[in-house]
Amino acid sequence: MATRRSESSLRFDHGAQYFTIRDPKFSVAAERWVQTGLIAKWEGTIVEFAPEGLIDKTNDERWVAVPGMNALCKHLAAGVPLQTGVQVAEVKLQKGGWELRSQEGASLGTADWVVSTAPAEQTAALMPESQPILQATSRAEMLPCWAAMIAPGNPLSAVKPDGAFINEGPLRWVARNSSKPGRDANCETWVLHASPEWSEAHWDDSPGSIADALWHSWCELLGVPGGEPLFSSAHRWRYALCEAVYPAPYVLDPQQRLAACGDWCGGPRVEGAFLSGLALAERIIDEVK
Ligand SMILES: Cc1cc2nc3c(=O)[nH]c(=O)nc-3n(C[C@H](O)[C@H](O)[C@H](O)COP(=O)(O)OP(=O)(O)OC[C@H]3O[C@@H](n4cnc5c(N)ncnc54)[C@H](O)[C@@H]3O)c2cc1C
Repeated sequence: MATRRSESSLRFDHGAQYFTIRDPKFSVAAERWVQTGLIAKWEGTIVEFAPEGLIDKTNDERWVAVPGMNALCKHLAAGVPLQTGVQVAEVKLQKGGWELRSQEGASLGTADWVVSTAPAEQTAALMPESQPILQATSRAEMLPCWAAMIAPGNPLSAVKPDGAFINEGPLRWVARNSSKPGRDANCETWVLHASPEWSEAHWDDSPGSIADALWHSWCELLGVPGGEPLFSSAHRWRYALCEAVYPAPYVLDPQQRLAACGDWCGGPRVEGAFLSGLALAERIIDEVK
């Protein structure tokens, strides 16, 4: 749930686009977020480009955090001791418990239990001592995604859809980011996601050429001249879409006091990640009672 802010203060949700609320436990939490204005319904017009023509997909309920997707993460992390911008490179058993170390070898702290919420492959690298975790992570498969962020020079105001599922060509999803609630509607912005196959094939291309290619592909699909964007950038997500999911909400190794959760456990996407974390938290509270 990431939000990128450009030097000119443009904001783009370049990762998760929106989320759905289906599970009662997620719904209870979401109701509180709605009441405080932390999340709001995205009422944009959504279509699917299908071989038989455009299919309206507007009816599904789609929720976003306000003013950007990362607002919800910031809210959930408030009051939690948090170190950002640090990569945990090693989780090592010491006399006092598990010690977390940075890439430079600096100690980041020691704990009785360690829970990894990193994607499956990164979790496996951090917890090689745990057979249950290694087995679980080997069952998950995650696909990559190039994401382009564009502020067009000529706004596409006449273009109807605010979001589109696309089944062919380089693109898989496109959103008029500025049509989401709480965003600056006067400054049009778009986020374009490439298909996993196209992302893989163009993994080493420059962000500039990716942004160009995806923007032109979208304009071509719409039949409008794209023109030179005011702002364009691209970001590559190595672990974007969880294709094969581990079929349980979390993995726990009580002997080692290691655990893992996230969207690759139990269910992909934002709601799945939330439910996975919640289920593991409840279980660990029971374990340590
Ligand atoms: C392009 C894209 C589009 C998406 N669209 C949607 C959507 O529309 N709707 C939806 O519901 N979901 C969508 N998703 C999926 C959604 O974003 C994820 O399911 C959800 O964010 C997963 O949450 P998580 O907490 O499990 O993992 P993540 O959000 O992946 O968080 C894992 C965190 O661990 C950190 N990390 C990893 N290794 C280490 C380490 N060694 N040390 C320290 N930190 C580490 C990472 O930096 C990251 O911050 C999308 C994802 C992407 C990438």
